[in-house]
This record gives sequence, C-alpha cells and structure tokens, in this order.
Amino acid sequence: MMSVKFRTIKGVQDILPPKTYLWQRVEDAARRIFSLFGFSEIRTPIMEFTELFIRSIGEDTDIVEKEMYTFQDRAGRSITLRPEGTASVVRAYIQNNLYNLPAPQKFYYCGPMFRYERPQKGRYRQFHQIGVEAFSIDDPYLEAELIEMLWLLLEHLGIEDLNTEVNSIGCTQCRPLYKENLLEYLKGNMDSLCSDCKRRYQHNPLRVFDCKVDTCKGIISSAPKITEFLCNTCKEHFSRFLSSLRKLDIPYSINPSMVRGLDYYTRTVFEVTTTALGAQNAVAAGGRYDTLVEEFGGPKTPAAGFAIGMERLITLLEEKTDTEPPQPDVYIVSLGTDATDRAYTIASTLRREGLWTELSYGMGSLKSQLRRADRFRAKLALIIGEDELKRGTLTCKRLTDGFQGEIKLTDVVSDIKRFLNHDQDT
Ligand code: ATP
Ligand code: MG
Repeated sequence: MMSVKFRTIKGVQDILPPKTYLWQRVEDAARRIFSLFGFSEIRTPIMEFTELFIRSIGEDTDIVEKEMYTFQDRAGRSITLRPEGTASVVRAYIQNNLYNLPAPQKFYYCGPMFRYERPQKGRYRQFHQIGVEAFSIDDPYLEAELIEMLWLLLEHLGIEDLNTEVNSIGCTQCRPLYKENLLEYLKGNMDSLCSDCKRRYQHNPLRVFDCKVDTCKGIISSAPKITEFLCNTCKEHFSRFLSSLRKLDIPYSINPSMVRGLDYYTRTVFEVTTTALGAQNAVAAGGRYDTLVEEFGGPKTPAAGFAIGMERLITLLEEKTDTEPPQPDVYIVSLGTDATDRAYTIASTLRREGLWTELSYGMGSLKSQLRRADRFRAKLALIIGEDELKRGTLTCKRLTDGFQGEIKLTDVVSDIKRFLNHDQDT
C-alpha cells in the first residue's frame, strides 16, 4: 500500500499540465500586449523587509493587520513574503534610480504573492498576479490607457461579462475634509458598528469601506460619498479620466464607495469585476498613487498601476475553453534493442530539426506502443523494427487519418516533414 507522506500546506496549490499551458497563454498574451504600450518586465524579490509593506499598504489594512507572511530571519530581521507587487516595484524604482530613465518609466511583473487568508474558491494563500506600474505621468489619460490595456488583454483572451468600476478617493488636499465628514457620520452610528470598524474609526476611517459585516455595510452605504468632497483639481482629474474612458469606448460605472484595500492610492481607483465568479468577483484592480515614491524617499513622482489575479482569470478561461495540451509531432515505436538504439539517433536528429519527438524506449508490444502514441495524441507514429532496420526503412503512420507509408532511413527528415505538412493541408 502506498501512503502519501507529504502534501502541500493549506491554501496553496500545484499547477499542473495541461493547465500550465493556459497559464502560459495568458502570460504570453500579457507580455505581447503590454509591450505594445511600452512596458518592460521587472523582477523583484519575493521577500522584502516587513516595514516596506507596512509603510505602503498601511497599518490598518486587512493585508497588514492579518494577512502577511512575516518571519524573522536568522539575524533577527523581520522579513515578509510579498502580499502584492507595487511596494516592491516602487522600492526598486528608487533604489536603482530608475527615475533617471527617460520618462515615462513603465514596468510589468508576473509572479506569486502571499496572503494568509481563509482559503476558498478564488482565494488562496499563494496566488499569482500580473501587474503593471507606470511612473512620471500626471495626465489622467494614463489611468484610462491602463484600463484600455487591461481590456485589450481580457478581450484577446475572450473573457466577457466584465464591469469596470471606478472612483476617485481624492488627494492629501481634499481627503481630510471628507474624513471629517465621514467621522461625523460614523459617530452617529457608533453603537451599531462592529469592533473592527470602531477601531478603524479611531485609526483609519476610510477602511470601514472594507468591512464585510452586514450591519456595517448597511451603515456605510448611506455614508457621505468621497466624490462629493473632491477639490477642484481632483474633480477635474476624475472628469478627464472618465471622458478618456468614453473616448476609448470602455464601459464603466462609478462606485462611490469603492476605496480599495490599500492606503497608498490617490485620486483614481478602479476594479474590473465579472458576474461569472461568484463571491470572489474581482479579476483586476488598481489605481493612482502619486505620493508613494516620495514617501519612500524618491523624487516627487506621480504613478499608477493595476494587478490581475491570475487564478481567477484562469478559472474564467477554463469555463469557456477546453485546454488541449499541444501535440507531439512524432512518436517513435521501436521493437528490439538495435531498433531502439536507432530510434534514439533518429529522435536526436528530429529534435534538432525542431520536431517534438517522443520515444517508446522500446517498452511493450507494437500494439501497446501504438496505443501510447495515440494517448500522447502524436501526429505521426514512426515504426522501426529489426526487419525495417535491415532494409534501411521505417514505417510512418499518420495517426490523424491512418495514412501509412514506407520511408527511407536516409530521407527521414524530409519525408516526415512531408507527412506532417500534408496533415496541415487537409
Ligand atoms: P479581494 O477583494 O478579492 O480580496 P483585493 O482587493 O484584496 O481582492 P488586490 O490586492 O487588489 O485584491 O489584488 C488584485 C487582484 O488579485 C484581485 O482583484 C484578485 O483577482 C487577486 N487576489 C487578491 N487576493 C487574492 C487571493 N488571496 N487569492 C487569489 N487571488 C487574489
Ligand atoms: Mg483581499
């Protein structure tokens, strides 16, 4: 009896073929589309000093309060597995003086993120994001362009039923006034707020919008809206952003209670949601963060970005396409030691010619080898036995239509290509 000795820890998962082909499709499409907009890849470490995330995401956010994977390294430093990408990219931007590059500086990243959350469909402890960050652009067209890029990707992948929700959460000028009004309103409802929201009231009142408790949600839905308190500059920014979206034909709705779960945002925030995922319906989210670079010790630099949740995107894709793994070109069936040895050199030649070749290693009968060739969904089976070897020939069988013929060992490459190409013609 086998007994499984090790399993993954809770909330993380193996990603296996053929699903990995779907992941690659998404990553390839993202790289291609992002590069059309001038984004280059940046790779930052998956661990950073804990302080980096506390200072950017914010002390009173769900992420920092309860979701970070934080540990002490052997020298007693506090290290955290990154829960999101923006903080690291901003750190790298400053540390490597990337602001000296010609503006705007545009980056994308792709990789695992870690949050200690309650695992459920669409919510994992290790998950993956593809994200982008663009620096040095004040113009609200930037946010519209980012959303356009995101839409282009999702459209290219064939994902439908998407909504873009947008909001403005103001700036350091107008947000204090809004906070006062919000506090005033919350004060009147203090008794009904949950204990988390009571604490939020003290430390970071905007975070009440993250609350999942029903009674709080009810209270908060009638709270004053930040959009009513925007200063003129923020108002102008928001309206130009919206008109850019309209010019780009991107449908959106304004959600005045969306504040996003991270503290670094200024002005524009947005979320792309779908009706197809149930409770975990946010596929991508982002916004502008005009003060973070400076707060981290860099030059005053406006910036904006977004991140896509890969697992949720993949789920959407899985629901609409079956992923067929790619097919080998050739499966070599060999019978006997000499024939099998010859199969190895043929495989080597074919692979150098760019043909995906699988070997049977001479294992099993002709029938079972051919069955394996079918299970691999190989386009051709190449059959080599002792007799064929003596004659200097091979049998080539096209598995798609059963067409079969004898080919000379000396012509193997050109003949196989002919068999394969014919397959494409029909
Ligand atoms: P949610 O409201 O679903 O918790 P969030 O606001 O915490 O999302 P962001 O920090 O904005 O998420 O991350 C961007 C995207 O990353 C989300 O829209 C989602 O698709 C994905 N994401 C976030 N947390 C997880 C997770 N624990 N597991 C899988 N995907 C996630
Ligand atoms: Mg979350």
